[in-house]
Amino acid sequence: MVGAALAAALGNTAYRVVVLEQQLPEPFTAEQPHDLRVSAISVASQQLLAEVGAWSAILAMRACPYRRMRVWEEDWQSGTLFDSHDIQRDYLGHIIENRIVQLGLWQALEQYDNVEVICPASINQIDYDGSASTLTLDDGRSFHTSLLVGADGARSRVRDTAGIGVTAWEYPMHVLVANVGTVYSQQDITWQRFRQTGPEAFLPLSGPHASLVWYNTPQKVQELMAMDIDSLKAAFEQHFPAELGQIAAIEGRTWFPLKRQHAQSYVKPGIVLIGDAAHSIHPLAGQGVNLGFMDVMALRDVLREATPQSLREGAPLQDYEKRRRQPNLLMMSTMDLFARAFSSSLPPLKLLRILGLGLADKTGPIKNKVMKYAMGLSSTL
Ligand SMILES: Cc1cc2nc3c(=O)[nH]c(=O)nc-3n(C[C@H](O)[C@H](O)[C@H](O)COP(=O)(O)OP(=O)(O)OC[C@H]3O[C@@H](n4cnc5c(N)ncnc54)[C@H](O)[C@@H]3O)c2cc1C
Repeated sequence: MVGAALAAALGNTAYRVVVLEQQLPEPFTAEQPHDLRVSAISVASQQLLAEVGAWSAILAMRACPYRRMRVWEEDWQSGTLFDSHDIQRDYLGHIIENRIVQLGLWQALEQYDNVEVICPASINQIDYDGSASTLTLDDGRSFHTSLLVGADGARSRVRDTAGIGVTAWEYPMHVLVANVGTVYSQQDITWQRFRQTGPEAFLPLSGPHASLVWYNTPQKVQELMAMDIDSLKAAFEQHFPAELGQIAAIEGRTWFPLKRQHAQSYVKPGIVLIGDAAHSIHPLAGQGVNLGFMDVMALRDVLREATPQSLREGAPLQDYEKRRRQPNLLMMSTMDLFARAFSSSLPPLKLLRILGLGLADKTGPIKNKVMKYAMGLSSTL
């Protein structure tokens, strides 16, 4: 998603862009069940996708807007309700399958003569000489570039090739994601209940469908993965909040370990990292790819201003890192604080989070600021 967005953002510029993607995304058909990999796409990300010509293609496939977001704690029911109408917006964001975002971007790329997509591309070797790179594919083709963008996800080979290390740790928690058919029709709310065992979340999908997200210990998540469909359905109905209503069908499930990871540098001469290759964060507030799209906007801006000489000297890439490292770090640390505060039983933390949520609910300006931050419309909390 992030690499394709950068390629599209560099469409109709003097750059010649080649996208090397290893895995061909399955074409969309309306009958397909929803994918398990979905993302909450913020308003700021939507604006980028619209600018590069992908948004209308995405909407023509499928996306689910949500207007409200409710957050509460198991023993403190009132929690906080965020409503886009409070800040004169029609919605807070959209829940969209990752593949649909990618397909929408790929459709947009077709209009740019300076962008070529090679897929499936199997990279045999990357040779980096300290300022430029040569990539050789298994089919023998090779590409020499003075700017290699690593948008190849959390296990980035580009990052390894550049010798850029990471600061990383694993959360003592895994997450189960299940797509379900709901008895309720399509909803305009996403909610998250915080429990000491971990959050439980509901993301609406288009039609009477939803993505349910269940954070818990690695052992519990494996137990849920091993259950037969009827037992899993019963477990959701028993443990998830009543807001879920009845589940008509379990349509699929998967699980993920949770890792926080931050590249020690985003740039080397002739190499730059964006998206999960640079940072991966706890997904509880659904901000990972949105941060990646913000990287795209920053890199697009510096590359549009750059000259061949300034690029050789490195200033534009340094500028990109300066713009993005702090905001990415702020979001990562905020997610950590949330994850820790809500899984602690220490009274002071409990009091703090209750006060925090209560304050946010009663105080319009604070709530509106949080909403704008989550929507990508404000860079500070
Ligand atoms: C459970 C869960 C829920 C999430 N929910 C949200 C959410 O609601 N909102 C949100 O913003 N984020 C969310 N995220 C995070 C989001 O999924 C990631 O931030 C996002 O996928 C990162 O996008 P990316 O393009 O940087 O990397 P990736 O999605 O990892 O894509 C990397 C791409 O590079 C390709 N690639 C890798 N290696 C090679 C190679 N050697 N050669 C060629 N191609 C290669 C891969 O095939 C892939 O297409 C969630 C994550 C998880 C785990």
